[in-house]
Order: sequence, then C-alpha cells, then structure tokens
Amino acid sequence: MINNFNFLQAKNIKHAVDVLAREERVCPVVGGTNVLVNMKRGPLPVDTILDLSGLSALRSITTDDGIISLGAGVNVAELLEWSKANSVAAELFSPMCSEFAGPLIRNLATVGGNICDASPASDLAPPLLALDASVVLASKAREIRKIKLADFFQGVRLTDRLPDELMTHIEFQQPNDERFYYYKLGKRKADAISIVSVAISIKYDKEKVKRARIALGASAPIPFRSKSAEEVLFEKAMDPQIVDSAAAAAVADSNPIDDHRASAEYRRRMIEVLIKRGLTKIADERVNSR
Ligand SMILES: Cc1cc2nc3c(=O)[nH]c(=O)nc-3n(C[C@H](O)[C@H](O)[C@H](O)COP(=O)(O)OP(=O)(O)OC[C@H]3O[C@@H](n4cnc5c(N)ncnc54)[C@H](O)[C@@H]3O)c2cc1C
Repeated sequence: MINNFNFLQAKNIKHAVDVLAREERVCPVVGGTNVLVNMKRGPLPVDTILDLSGLSALRSITTDDGIISLGAGVNVAELLEWSKANSVAAELFSPMCSEFAGPLIRNLATVGGNICDASPASDLAPPLLALDASVVLASKAREIRKIKLADFFQGVRLTDRLPDELMTHIEFQQPNDERFYYYKLGKRKADAISIVSVAISIKYDKEKVKRARIALGASAPIPFRSKSAEEVLFEKAMDPQIVDSAAAAAVADSNPIDDHRASAEYRRRMIEVLIKRGLTKIADERVNSR
C-alpha cells in the first residue's frame, strides 16, 4: 500500500533547503527510480515528497579551475554523452554509463539519487571513488558541507547526509595523466545489477606507482576503496607478483554477500580476477606506450 504524503515541487535550491529545514520526514526525489520502487514495496517513513526534477541548477556539468563538478540532477544518459564529448576519465564513465540499467532508466536515474541511495551495488560509486570525489551538501543551517565520498557511505542504504541536507553536486580534480580501468560483472551486459564492479586509477612516477586508487562495488556493505591493495602498490613497479599481492589484499578487504545473483565465494574470486586483469592491462599499456 502506498502511504499518504504531501507533494512539493522545489522552485530553486533555496526553496528546497527551506523545505528540508522546516518539514519533518522529507524525501527528495529526482528520477524516482529508487523511491518509486521502494514505495511499491510498502509505505515509506515519509510525510513530504520534494520533487527536485525541475531544478536546472542541479543539472549542469562544469569544469572550474581544474575541478569537475557533476550536478546531483544530471542523469546517466547525460553523463554518458558528456564523457564521450570530454573524454574525462572516459575509461571509467563510458562503460559504466553504457552498462547502467537500460536506456529508459538511464534517462531518469541521477548522480545524486544513485549516491544518496547508497546501494552496495551502486554503479556510479566505484568510478567516483577512484577519482577521490567529494559530495557537496547544501542546507539552511550550514550552507555548504563537503565530504569525501569514501566517508559518505555509512552502511547499506545509509549515508552521512543529514535530514536537512540536499546534495547539490559531486566534484573531483580533473585527472592528469592517470590510467584507468573499469569493469562491471553482471548477469547481462546491461539491465543487470552488479555482481562485482571494479574501478582503478593508477598514477605513475617513472616506473613506479605514485598513487593507486582501487574501488569496489557489490563487494561489501558499502562501495569502498581497498586501502590494503593501494598500499601494496605504493611506490612499486607493477610486476606480476605485486599485482597478485594487490588482488589478494583487495579480497581480504572485501566482505561480499551470498544472494540470488552470486555466492560470496564467487564474488571474492571475481574481485581477485578483475583486479589482476585491470592492473595487468594498465601495466601492459604503460609498457606499450613507451
Ligand atoms: C529497472 C532499474 C534498473 C536499475 N539499474 C541500475 C544499475 O544498473 N546500476 C545502478 O547503480 N542502479 C540501478 N538502478 C537504481 C537507480 O536507477 C539508481 O540508483 C538511480 O541513479 C537513482 O537516481 P534517481 O534520480 O532515480 O533517485 P531517486 O529515486 O529520485 O532517489 C533515490 C534516493 O536518493 C535521495 N536523493 C535523490 N537526490 C537527492 C539529492 N539531490 N539530495 C539528497 N537526496 C537525494 C532520495 O531521497 C532517495 O532516498 C536501477 C533501478 C531500476 C528501477
């Protein structure tokens, strides 16, 4: 049964944060692709639905002083078009967006909705974690609060967002000479929830790894970065032994579940395979580009 609720359309960001500050149990909605599915499952603990879909201020992608900012209301289809035209981390965004749901949902599903929903299998999270992105939240009381995405996820469908906060955008430093890898393992090549997803960013200093970011989805209660794998790679040449050790460290950091899509054991094995595959691809490309 669907519960009774007030429905408000936000006129601008100020109006939206005023409503969030004033009312109790407000649920911001943009595409509604999570909220409506949840509503059909049973009444939500919500008194007001705040529709943000008309806010053009949330829908832009900008670059300012080397910082890329993705508006919370940008949808996956728009992100795909942008990544093709701008080639910013296209190795992460293009495959992720092309394999996200199907075309219908891609035109509704937003960056903010995906990140604030905090599914362990969120497909936007691993690329954004590999870019060390920060979530930007607006509120009447605190104006702007910025938090690293890696700290934003608190548990399954649980975030650090306070009830009076609105996510306005997510931002990251424009990549400079990093090498990337992304892979989503699902039961199909689109319209499938991830069994495991991996996003990797590697920055070299001569032959050694200066900075590694290894992000995983559907591998623990939250999308996360494997700090152990990153430490294994730090200041090392990526030879097969180091690659094996980094993959083993990522498996040790993971905590996947058994469900109807895959067993935890299969997920652990796939984390190992995909990290090895990604790091080897990056190392081989580096050798071939010299
Ligand atoms: C058929 C189908 C296929 C799907 N496939 C995938 C897939 O392949 N990969 C994947 O990762 N997900 C998938 N999803 C899940 C969903 O589409 C995504 O998570 C989507 O990005 C959510 O965006 P939305 O705008 O629809 O969110 P909404 O449903 O509008 O909101 C989701 C949550 O975020 C909150 N929220 C939204 N915007 C803001 C904001 N600006 N500030 C604060 N809180 C906010 C809402 O209150 C709500 O709690 C799928 C869903 C369906 C129905």
